[in-house]
This record gives sequence, C-alpha cells and structure tokens, in this order.
Amino acid sequence: MKKLFSLVLVLILSLGFAAMARADYTVGTNPEFPPFEYMDDNGEVAGIDVDIINAVMAIVDPGAKVDIEVMAFDALIPSLTTGKIDIAIAGMSATDERRVSVDFTDAYFKATQAILVAADNEEIKTVDDLAGKKIGVQMGTTGDLYVTDNVDAAAVDRYDKGLDAVQDVVAGRLDAVVIDNAPAAAFVQSTEGKTKVVAAIETDEVYAIALPKGSDELCAAMNEALAQLTADGTIDAIVTKFMTAE
Ligand code: GLN
Repeated sequence: MKKLFSLVLVLILSLGFAAMARADYTVGTNPEFPPFEYMDDNGEVAGIDVDIINAVMAIVDPGAKVDIEVMAFDALIPSLTTGKIDIAIAGMSATDERRVSVDFTDAYFKATQAILVAADNEEIKTVDDLAGKKIGVQMGTTGDLYVTDNVDAAAVDRYDKGLDAVQDVVAGRLDAVVIDNAPAAAFVQSTEGKTKVVAAIETDEVYAIALPKGSDELCAAMNEALAQLTADGTIDAIVTKFMTAE
C-alpha cells in the first residue's frame, strides 16, 4: 500500500501542472480568420489554431476536454476577463495594450499586416497610397489600430468579418482592406482572382495564446508545450498543412 502510495505521489509530481489540472477548458475563438480559424464544410471550427491548442492541451493536461466557443473577435478579451472562457486562440497578436487585461503565452507565429485591393486596382501600391481612400478593417484588430493611428483615410469601415470587407472591395464599395498577411492570402485565393495583395506593412506582431491575468501556472505549462511542439516540428507542420490547403 505504501509502495502504491509513493508510486501515485511520484506520478502526480511528475505530471506537474496536470496534477492540478481541471480537465475541461473552454477555448474562445472567432472563425472568420482563415487559415487560423474558419468553419469547415462540416460546420466545425478548424484551422491552425484549433490544431495548435489541441496539441498544446494534449501535453499540458492529457485527456482534458477542450471545448471551442465561437464569438466575435472583440469579445474574446472581455470573455477572458469575466471568466466566460479559459483560453483564447484567434491569431491574436500579443500587444502591450492587451497585456494590460490578459496574459499571453510565448509566440507561435509572426505576422505582418497586408494591403488587399481589387485585382484591377492600379492606384494602391504602398501604404502611402492609402491616404484619402476608403479602407475596411476587422473591428478591434491590429489592422484596425494600425489604420486608425497611421493612415489619413477618407473613411475607415469596421467589419465583424474580414471576408465581408474583402467582398466590399470586390463590389467596389471599399478601396482596400488592411488585414493580417495569412488571412489576406487566404481571401485572395477564395475570391478567385478578384483581389490581390499589393504590400505588406511590417507591424512586428506575433500571435500568442491569451489567458486570464494571473494564469502563471497554466501559462508556464503551455509555454513548455509550445517549446516542445516547436522543437519537434509539429507547429511548422500544422502551419504548412493549412497554408497549402487554403
Ligand atoms: N492579429 C490580429 C489581431 O490580433 C487579427 C486577429 C483576428 O482578426 N482574428 O488583432
């Protein structure tokens, strides 16, 4: 009995964080951001972030249930701060402003902003050409912040869904959309020749997983898992799988 007890003790200690795990995590995301998260043909949330969070949690808390909850992008941080969700993964850039309200894990992807225009647009080629133009962004994103702070636009239209903004470029209602580079590339592909990306804006941003403030223990365990998944090539493989599938 004593032997069994010490065996169990060693097991618990060696599992580290898992020993105090809750075995059930609600993960918020906004599946309007391919290839990081989108609704697949079966109506399931799929994408790079879904595979990453599942791989991370399989290490952090093996056997735990990971429930994905869909919400607006700008609802993710309030949902973390009010405890409605435990984790947010949504191609979310780890900005200093957001760090005031949430904790971030280490980065798992480096992003830039991209300028997307109609395929026949010859006028907009650089960020300077955005002055005086009608620009669409996804509400509350770093693209929104960038345009608001740096571009003297004629108008900035804020959309819930990046794709709706892209469709307004196609329809001629917007001159350009400023959105993260990977979804921009995915939207160019899904609009089948009707749009193009003309320039990248180096905003020096990285995606990280967001947690409620003070999640030190969970954050450390997730960082270890991310390091392991980076070192063994899993993160790269997940990114490549969805980048080429798009
Ligand atoms: N990376 C951008 C941000 O964090 C966009 C994220 C998104 O729209 N899902 O604001």
